[in-house]
Amino acid sequence: MSAEFDVLIIGGGAAGIGAARRLARSGIPVLLLEASARLGGRAWTCEIAGYPLDLGCGWLHSGDRNSWTAIADASGIVLDRREPAWGIQYRDLGFPPAEQNAAKQALAVWRERLSVTPPASDCAADAVAAGSEWNAYLQALSGFISGAELERISATDYIAYDKASTPCNWRAPSGYGALIASSLPLNLAFRPSSPVESVEFAPCGVKVATATGTVQARAAILTVSTAVLAGSTIKLPRALDPWRDAARLLPLGRNEKLYLEIVGGSPFEPETQVLGNPRDAASGAYYIRPFGRPVIECFFGGEGARLVEKRGPVVGFAYAIDQLAALFGSDVRQNLRPLIASSWSRMVRIGGAYSYAVPGHAAARQELARPFEDRLFFAGEATHHYDFSTAHGAYDSGVRAADEAIAALGLPPQARNET
Ligand SMILES: Cc1cc2nc3c(=O)[nH]c(=O)nc-3n(C[C@H](O)[C@H](O)[C@H](O)COP(=O)(O)OP(=O)(O)OC[C@H]3O[C@@H](n4cnc5c(N)ncnc54)[C@H](O)[C@@H]3O)c2cc1C
Repeated sequence: MSAEFDVLIIGGGAAGIGAARRLARSGIPVLLLEASARLGGRAWTCEIAGYPLDLGCGWLHSGDRNSWTAIADASGIVLDRREPAWGIQYRDLGFPPAEQNAAKQALAVWRERLSVTPPASDCAADAVAAGSEWNAYLQALSGFISGAELERISATDYIAYDKASTPCNWRAPSGYGALIASSLPLNLAFRPSSPVESVEFAPCGVKVATATGTVQARAAILTVSTAVLAGSTIKLPRALDPWRDAARLLPLGRNEKLYLEIVGGSPFEPETQVLGNPRDAASGAYYIRPFGRPVIECFFGGEGARLVEKRGPVVGFAYAIDQLAALFGSDVRQNLRPLIASSWSRMVRIGGAYSYAVPGHAAARQELARPFEDRLFFAGEATHHYDFSTAHGAYDSGVRAADEAIAALGLPPQARNET
């Protein structure tokens, strides 16, 4: 049986869409298979209470060199290029200036050590100053940035991201998830609600079984998360065990977002931010009235996100409201109503937030990004060796994998020369 398509793309998140856009320009027959009924994966804008709220990615990090910036500009989608309110504790609530300075100093010392005298263990926790009273603060930041505690993350991996990122962090008021999901080329064959059950090698290339039938192609690009790749929902040939091993060394951290609606008169000012408790590793970070909207985005990472995952959104909302009431006064309880909560870790086709490398294994990203022969290519945020954990890193990895597939299949020059 001959191949029906030149290339199959498995997964319609930012990486799959990046690959699709690149391949669509080359004019070769491509089919995108997505398990869910919607596009975007960890990019997901939900229209709630009349507002487009991002449950997954929300910030165009390194906005000045982020591929989604150019895509938004070309589509006439407005970006907000203001600086975020991160790191500015509104009215120093619960975090006096002297303590903020001390905490920021502890952070600077830790980053300097990671960069200049990285620990031989490659464990990010081993660069924390002994006996630092700001350990919980650093753990909370590690949770927000990497989704995991310092003990779990590779210093080399962390620094690679840190060094490559720029200070531009922008937003799409209409939603980052909406921007990504609307960027699939219209002429591309797309099958939603088609979870891939197995991938096999066949004489023509690859044979992929889905819940809605089997498809053959000369090559496939696999873009699922590392949790999915290392898990058991897709049956893969034994020859791919080294890729699954690499995925296990790049687990997904824990991050969840909860949105509270603000009702009635309240002390919450637009575009401000507070850290719930700088001495609590499980603390939430609260972005208040983004774009002036009557909502608070509550962001949990690492230990805080695990609390939400294990005990559920009701406990998560109560925890967030307690933290805000402790800072703004208990009257604000009457102004806050739960709106919506993410549950990334519990979604079987996702399984967490974004990848981090375990100590000693930053090179697993390059291992995961290697093609298998000339027929299976790997993309997804975890395969990017410095823009991992982001939607633009995912996109660029998809373009890279598509270029590899085009070169490997010996496709016509117009396919290869496109940029
Ligand atoms: C709470 C949170 C906040 C974040 N904040 C930011 C941020 O501000 N900025 C930023 O840049 N990034 C952020 N990220 C990370 C960013 O969202 C991800 O790095 C990026 O979206 C990952 O894209 P991907 O294509 O690699 O993977 P995914 O989005 O996971 O896409 C993989 C796709 O594969 C599909 N799939 C899985 N199994 C199968 C199967 N068997 N068959 C077919 N399809 C399958 C999935 O449904 C999914 O659609 C955040 C993530 C979270 C969770």
